[in-house]
Amino acid sequence: MPIAPMPPRLCPICKERLWEEDRISRNLALRYYLTHVHNTHLEFQRWNNRLVWKFRFAVIVIILAQFLQVVIDVGLRLEIIWLGLVVTAVATMAFQKRRGTGRFRRSWMEEHGMPSKQ
Ligand SMILES: [Zn+2]
Repeated sequence: MPIAPMPPRLCPICKERLWEEDRISRNLALRYYLTHVHNTHLEFQRWNNRLVWKFRFAVIVIILAQFLQVVIDVGLRLEIIWLGLVVTAVATMAFQKRRGTGRFRRSWMEEHGMPSKQ
């Protein structure tokens, strides 16, 4: 069973601390994170949701393509290609997420200045 990552304690855009507790459940942390992002960085939230859906779509297409390969039994061992496609999809998403988050952060800092020390 995959372990979902803990949401960041500091907002990736404005660096505001999202909760004070030392120990917190992932669900509560996610609620704090999503509430803050929704209330403060709505454009970032929309962009991030689009990115997640693109990634899900890419993974579904890859899985369906692999399923079709099994059904039609082309007789080729293409697992390494499918694995490569999945790794490429994950790497592309991670790269886009990092670049887009940086873009939103720079835009935020231009409008609001550097965040104060937490
Ligand atoms: Zn923020």
